[in-house]
Amino acid sequence: MTTSHYIAGRWVEGQGSDCISVNDPALGQPFAELKAASVAQVDQAVTAARGALPAWKNTSASERAAYLRGFAEQLGQRREALITLQMRNNGKPRHEAEIDLEDAIATFGYYAELAEQLPSKNRDVPLAAPGFSARTRLEPVGVVGLIVPWNFPLVTSAWKLAPALAAGCTVVLKPSEVTPLIEQAYGQIADALGLPPGVLNIVNGKAETGAALSNHNGLDKLSFTGSNSVGSQVMRSASAQCRPVTLELGGKSAIVVFDDCDVGQAVEWIVAGITWNAGQMCSATSRLLVQDGIADALLPRLQAALEQLRVGNPLTEEVDMGPLTSQAQWLKVAGYFATAREEGLQCLAGGKALDREGWFVSPTLYADVPKDSRLWTEEIFGPVLCARRFATEEQAIAEANDSRFGLVATVCSADLERAERVADALEVGHVWINSVQAVFVETSWGGTKGSGIGRELGPWGLSAYQSVKHVTRCLG
Ligand code: NAD
Repeated sequence: MTTSHYIAGRWVEGQGSDCISVNDPALGQPFAELKAASVAQVDQAVTAARGALPAWKNTSASERAAYLRGFAEQLGQRREALITLQMRNNGKPRHEAEIDLEDAIATFGYYAELAEQLPSKNRDVPLAAPGFSARTRLEPVGVVGLIVPWNFPLVTSAWKLAPALAAGCTVVLKPSEVTPLIEQAYGQIADALGLPPGVLNIVNGKAETGAALSNHNGLDKLSFTGSNSVGSQVMRSASAQCRPVTLELGGKSAIVVFDDCDVGQAVEWIVAGITWNAGQMCSATSRLLVQDGIADALLPRLQAALEQLRVGNPLTEEVDMGPLTSQAQWLKVAGYFATAREEGLQCLAGGKALDREGWFVSPTLYADVPKDSRLWTEEIFGPVLCARRFATEEQAIAEANDSRFGLVATVCSADLERAERVADALEVGHVWINSVQAVFVETSWGGTKGSGIGRELGPWGLSAYQSVKHVTRCLG
């Protein structure tokens, strides 16, 4: 059992009724256990954050920036332990675990810089009317609850934690019950840096703990990343209390491949967009739209590339793709394989669980998938790619936009004018042209339609934790 909750600057044991097993998905075996936080402990965490707020929000921006730089440095000092833990608990290949760590480090560094620029944002507003002066003041939203999923634990938490602390908010973070140990690093770092008690609190647990946090009336804002079904519950709690919410939800994103592409290069982009993190990405490009003129050449090469991927235990083998992170996810993906069989889909690769211990599935490709197939419309969250052909640019845009989600898209074309035109027409939050899943801390993250509300990263990620105040004075 691990002491796993960080409340008011102290590590405490869970007093909740749920017991959480932390699993190695490559073996399908638990390697740690912890007790969830109780509802009373969630309350203690929110109370601690409330108590810490007046002093924290009045720290200077440069003081907060120094703490954020400390987070970046200390993450670097824990590099090997954090990479290994992600490999063991998420099943990430080493190079992916390394990139996640680098992303988290870059995020803290970036928001340290933005924090330092904050004083210059509090400035006079030129008024057309005579006789008055006005100034802007960007204030922290207050106490924020942060609820995150398991697929990129270090990263998703960093994208919320760093801007929230930079803005002067205090925080209660609830990591996913699937990966509850990884974000403990943030509590350990807070300890090591001497972050004032209560500024960062971490409570672990399942749905009950998440609901206790999202329903808590002591929060000023809730920022949630996760599924649409839980996101809508979180939004209901926010609406009951009329308080702001940021939602980063699911996706069913398109990758559009025009017939002027180099086939080999396109195959690389397509494979990466669906097999990175074993396809467990909100931004997985799981709907392939391929133009008629290239489809017959591309699909067999894609099939071969998926079949050649090395799938295995990242801790003991050289792999391109690890297992799915949880048994629940493995069962869900297996359910979609069964649906594909019932629907009579044409399977060009995979379509089955691997016959070995652990929660592995084969990288999968279905071709000519009907538009009304559940596999074409629903988020699967696994390495399952569905393909359709298109004739014209207009048709590609219409099919890509024909989704209740709108998170990201990829456009592959040698004709850059066309690629930019298509990017502009896509109803999503982020488009990649001739690249794949390249996320930079300076650009925004978030979706349109059912993919969520609000943006993370960049200056927009900081604004999400700020409240705008104006002070207007009569000069007469
Ligand atoms: P999930 O919604 O099941 O869980 C997310 C978090 O919510 C977990 O911490 C969980 O414990 C908590 N939770 C569960 N029930 C709750 C409740 N009733 N009230 C409050 N909190 C509750 O999602 P998941 O399975 O962990 O993650 C996968 C989903 O996350 C996918 O849909 C994926 O697309 C989405 N996701 C989105 C982004 C993005 O940036 N848009 C990034 C990563 C993942």
